[in-house]
Amino acid sequence: MSKQTLSFQAEVAQLLHLVTHSLYSNKEIFLRELISNASDACDKLRFEALNDNALYEDAPNLEVRVSLDKAARTLTIADNGIGLSQQEAIDNLGTIAKSGTREFMGKLSGDQKADAQLIGQFGVGFYSGFIVADRITVESRRAGLPPEEGVRWASGGTGDFEVDSITRPQRGTSVTLHLREDADDYLNAWTVKGIIGKYSDHISLPILVEKEEWKDGENDQPGEMVKTGEWETVNQASALWTRPKKDITPEQYAEFYKQISHDHEAPLAWSHNRVEGGTEYTQLLYLPAKAPADLYNRDKAAGVRLYVKRVFIMDDAEALLPVYLRFVKGVIDSADLPLNVSRELLQESRDVKAIREGSTKRVLGMLEDLAKQEKDDGASEEDKARYGRFYSEFGAVLKEGLGEDFGNRERLARLLRFASTASDTVTVSFADYKARMKEGQDAIYYITADTLAAAKNSPQLEVFRKKGIEVLLMSDRVDEWALNFLNEFDGTPLQSVAKGAVDLGKLQDEAEKQAAEEAAETFKPVLAKLKEALKDKAEDVRVTTRLVDSPACLVVTDGGMSMQLARMLKQAGQ
Ligand code: ADP
Ligand code: MG
Repeated sequence: MSKQTLSFQAEVAQLLHLVTHSLYSNKEIFLRELISNASDACDKLRFEALNDNALYEDAPNLEVRVSLDKAARTLTIADNGIGLSQQEAIDNLGTIAKSGTREFMGKLSGDQKADAQLIGQFGVGFYSGFIVADRITVESRRAGLPPEEGVRWASGGTGDFEVDSITRPQRGTSVTLHLREDADDYLNAWTVKGIIGKYSDHISLPILVEKEEWKDGENDQPGEMVKTGEWETVNQASALWTRPKKDITPEQYAEFYKQISHDHEAPLAWSHNRVEGGTEYTQLLYLPAKAPADLYNRDKAAGVRLYVKRVFIMDDAEALLPVYLRFVKGVIDSADLPLNVSRELLQESRDVKAIREGSTKRVLGMLEDLAKQEKDDGASEEDKARYGRFYSEFGAVLKEGLGEDFGNRERLARLLRFASTASDTVTVSFADYKARMKEGQDAIYYITADTLAAAKNSPQLEVFRKKGIEVLLMSDRVDEWALNFLNEFDGTPLQSVAKGAVDLGKLQDEAEKQAAEEAAETFKPVLAKLKEALKDKAEDVRVTTRLVDSPACLVVTDGGMSMQLARMLKQAGQ
């Protein structure tokens, strides 16, 4: 390959501009991102080498070395991981391959504050180097390729980048940042070590920094820190989840979360356990505080990484949790699975089934704990609000579980919250509702509509209002579908107020019943005429007791498809 200059994909150019401008106040994260890439590259090598031990060449000890050159004003992060081929350098460092990133670009608003939040959800990765560097040079050789097939990639972080072939005896990648004028801090070993300790302590490979020592100046020259030629390991280099809980601080848990999730916000809660007896595994599962932009995409990558005895296997192991818990992030490290486990094998493994069930229970348990705090007078305001925060972000996804996870339906139903005619906020649980039911009321009433306002103003509610009966208001797209799977809660049937003849049972007094029957008699001829006129449109026309002020309303037959669902299917072209 001869030297060539290529343009960044348009999205990359845009992303670069954005990253360098809006993450300016949080510069130091570039080091975390680049070390994380180095660590990923070592994970990938370890994984590929399971089938081809020769890839280790003569350097089996995977590590990351960070070096500083004050004279040249450069900081270099070097790994001996999988490396990049020439084509991979062009593809992976010049285009945005991941659809999520593209989606992210579409969401940018130009409002720096909001956009910086968004970046947090996607991880800025490699390009974050340009926050502190005005030029980045990458030299790499992919494991298994001959030394002459090395590559040098360089860019000033604006419109284009250069690639050239080089000869590189050692495998892996080194990323050299040519620091900007105002990024002097990162030439200081002490500062750099501090940042590594803060963000990358749990990385399971050694991260080495060249030792410096103080040398007094001679002949009245000032003293300075000089390199000793020795390297020191600055991180603990043990996978966080393998350490005992008591040795891990909340800050370390939060930092690890940020690393694996690319979320810049702290998690809402986590659960760390070693499961023994039967299938053995360690789980460290997190609930994020904010939903990602692609939450509703059921095909999106799952958030749990699979390790087998601390060897990284894959990072979107969808078999480990049901789809409705796709927002959960974390790590599962199994002691029982084979190292060469494939996705196909995962789907069938009995151990994976046990892990999946155990992890689902863990997540539901975490949610139940949060929900319990809502009503705990001893809890702080922040703790009380935690479940509400979770629910406003992920509640709609949780409901998918009613149709997906029959075994946990009861537990899920307890975790649901709704608005109601007695509460404008989405805080009413089925249990709250039951506790407020009227004497003689024998069903939980609900209505579904496109919006909360539409539900609230529906004429179907008139009689319930008149009688002071609470009705749950549902307006999530998924409600209609999800509620199909829930016929009752704790022995009380659920009844849509828009279906069939609403039987208010004992709540209706004799006089009302009689009046309705008389009216039905009186209006018989009118009803017959209406029925004839509407015969292609309506199945039946009835006198109703459900209305108070409105003259007429549409209802669905019992067991019929609700209007919401019919509309949704129609929209979907069915
Ligand atoms: P992500 O890490 O989320 O994939 P990045 O922007 O951080 O996104 O990195 C982009 C891609 O560049 C990586 O997916 C990987 O293919 C490649 N890459 C970056 N750094 C390295 C490295 N040190 N060794 C090998 N490949 C790398
Ligand atoms: Mg990365």
